[in-house]
Amino acid sequence: MNVEQAYKDANALLEGHFLLASGNHSSRYLQSAKVLEYPKKAAELTDALAKMIKEAGVEADTVCAPALGGVLAGYELARSLDVRSIFVEKDGEGGMVLRRGFEVAEGEKIIICEDIITTGGSAFKAAQAIEALGGKIVAFASLANRGFCKRQGSNLEAKPECKLPQNIPFFALDDFTFEMYTPEECPMCRRGEGEAVKPGSKG
Ligand code: ZN
Repeated sequence: MNVEQAYKDANALLEGHFLLASGNHSSRYLQSAKVLEYPKKAAELTDALAKMIKEAGVEADTVCAPALGGVLAGYELARSLDVRSIFVEKDGEGGMVLRRGFEVAEGEKIIICEDIITTGGSAFKAAQAIEALGGKIVAFASLANRGFCKRQGSNLEAKPECKLPQNIPFFALDDFTFEMYTPEECPMCRRGEGEAVKPGSKG
């Protein structure tokens, strides 16, 4: 499947002149929730992700997502893998916690799933919360990889910013690596292509 085209078709891959949360500018932006707007399309993406995971011989009992961003992707991946779906949420102190009556058994094999992995910070915190309860992290998964972490089958190497442990496989459908510029060196600014806008700020 052509993952980039699927993102474009869903208007999840935006092109323009964007102001990122970091203060940097970019000509492309992933509005990752948009690709999950239509459940049947979402299922096609997670079916492809589940296939990669199964073909690598990874077996799991449960998919766990960090809320809020990962919940839909995690739920659909659990459906594709025919396993249980749970999620962790922010504990208000910088970590993640399992609430709402969800439980993890000792040794339960768990995949941490996000919609998009940038540095993997939230996914790593989710993994820590699950491991503290006795769960075993067998893989990380996301629909899109922003190119800071190395996914299985990609030639791109992990960057120092990657928070995911190197000894656990990371599966993603594709790499989406975009150039980022400081405002001073931004080519769109230099060409006078208007002010950089916050993605999604139009509505
Ligand atoms: Zn700019």
